[in-house]
Amino acid sequence: MKIKVLTALTNPPTREADDFSRATDGEICVMPAIVCDNPACGCGAAVIGLTSHAPTTTAAVAEVDLTLDDIDTMMSRYAQKAWGGLMDADDTRALWQEMTTIAAGYPIGAVLRFRAQGDQWIIRATRPAA
Ligand SMILES: [Zn+2]
Repeated sequence: MKIKVLTALTNPPTREADDFSRATDGEICVMPAIVCDNPACGCGAAVIGLTSHAPTTTAAVAEVDLTLDDIDTMMSRYAQKAWGGLMDADDTRALWQEMTTIAAGYPIGAVLRFRAQGDQWIIRATRPAA
């Protein structure tokens, strides 16, 4: 099944002062499950790579071909490695859902930046050059 996802973009076409990326370029990212109160931490402005567990402030919308099994495997691996089993299947499904809902709202190639505001994410998109 083809599905739009957020992928880590470690080298965005335009740089902003507070951009950072420690994720692996191209890996699928999810929203952080928890955002802390420390503005210097950066978790309130980043998405998290599923395999590196590292944050990036810039992500690109991409379309990938995944089965439901692929998604389950990826997300349970992430929950196990990043959260030591503290996340259950409902939690990981919710994380996946949140990310794909965001990605579905933008064209492939769009570059997104994120800002947590309470329980909401403010998302800013730079559209790909036509
Ligand atoms: Zn934090």
